[in-house]
Amino acid sequence: MLKMKTKLTIIVKISTYFSDNWSLLYAQKVALKHKLPLHICFYLRRTFMNAPIRHFKFLLKGLEETAKESRKLNIPFHMFISDEGENQIIDFMVENKFGYVVIDFSPLRIARTWAENLKKTLPDDVPLVQVDGHNIVPCWVASDKLEYGARTIRNKLKNKFAEFLTPFPPVTEHPYSGEQKAKEIDWAAAEASLEVDRTIDEVSWAKPGYLNGMKMLHEFCQKRLSKFAQKRNDPLGNALSNLSPWFHFGQISVQRCILVVESFKSKYKESVESFCEEAIIRRELSDNFCYYNPNYDNIKGAYDWARKTLEEHKKDKREWLYTQEELENSLTHDDLWNSTQIQLVKEGKIHGFLRMYWAKKILEWTESPEKALEISIYLNDKYSLDGRDPNGFVGCMWSICGIHDQGWKERPVFGKIRYMNYKGCERKFNVSAFVARYGGK
Ligand code: FAD
Repeated sequence: MLKMKTKLTIIVKISTYFSDNWSLLYAQKVALKHKLPLHICFYLRRTFMNAPIRHFKFLLKGLEETAKESRKLNIPFHMFISDEGENQIIDFMVENKFGYVVIDFSPLRIARTWAENLKKTLPDDVPLVQVDGHNIVPCWVASDKLEYGARTIRNKLKNKFAEFLTPFPPVTEHPYSGEQKAKEIDWAAAEASLEVDRTIDEVSWAKPGYLNGMKMLHEFCQKRLSKFAQKRNDPLGNALSNLSPWFHFGQISVQRCILVVESFKSKYKESVESFCEEAIIRRELSDNFCYYNPNYDNIKGAYDWARKTLEEHKKDKREWLYTQEELENSLTHDDLWNSTQIQLVKEGKIHGFLRMYWAKKILEWTESPEKALEISIYLNDKYSLDGRDPNGFVGCMWSICGIHDQGWKERPVFGKIRYMNYKGCERKFNVSAFVARYGGK
């Protein structure tokens, strides 16, 4: 039984909207049980893994909405902006005698280091609990090992849906207030204090925050879900949900979206199943990969067969060789590839099918698989609004290193890694119309 000698309960590092956040729901349950106030803390770094202003504006506007909502619910929201590392937030918790800490989960290295540091620094009598609100089935419950692919994790996840894929209880107005009030946040000053690339700015199609994410979800259900199964691999088919930026920033929860999408099952069975396959199975498989494979973003993380075949073909002559700069500036001989890169830079997202083509051509046109992986992750993270995500690392690793895939017919440069080509794209969709839309030369 937990003994609460101190005054406050806190939750750190969340940005998901309230009632859809299992970390906050859990923290409130503990706080209510012990009749304690509840606080939210967020630590804003002035730089984060080279993210440009495009990503920070999305994050900050989402947080502003969260801060407003928290005020209504009597849950003070504190934001810390500093170069001093997480110590500032820990000092604040210690000074104010926070008695219980709940943190969100990410399988990525940097977030795991933060969690470890927090564990080491918090006083021994303050419990630290981590809640996986990122996945429907908590990552460590879904599987206790690195899974080989979708077919090995699918049933493990499905068997847990009855327990975890449940409706959210509401977060209620918090009845206990402490002395520590939230300071007014100057959002413009916070944005101005960032030390980031300001040339890559916001995109017009994705407006940040929970309410805008829900708007996108409803638009998807009304206009695009019906064709998701048939048209999701057609870059001109306008069938995708486009929800990945809100998922990435935790501004809407996948579980909420699944519950809404599933209500259309009697109308669009095949599409609903196909969406669940992507948003649950594939997505949670990515978290499994990053959680259990410390080399989730480099060639050492590939299967033995893939490493061997890539090594054997490392010295193969490349018909085309491009530098990172040429790729970034869409200067290849391939108008389709150049158009996808233009889409990435301008819209902050490439269509899911073309993301594979885009990364596989980087493997074909650079000096080594290592370089290809480095460049694809760099470009994806720099421009894509959903970048720096387990799905992004796995997407690049799938395309270049055959993660979660199998060996295919051997060919130059690729070895047994699955190949994609221009002609194959022409068979799938109207390539010239796509090129005309984005203007790749
Ligand atoms: P939808 O097709 O509407 O799917 C709904 C959700 O399902 C997505 O938002 C996503 O959470 C999940 N999903 C869809 N496809 C996949 C997949 N192949 N693997 C895992 N989950 C999936 N996804 C990111 O979220 N961030 C990235 O940075 C990213 N980079 C990628 C890079 C490459 C080279 C490749 C091949 C894939 C990448 N993906 C990434 C995976 C996938 O392409 C995107 O999730 C998808 O395009 C997002 O668009 P959407 O929300 O409209 O997807």
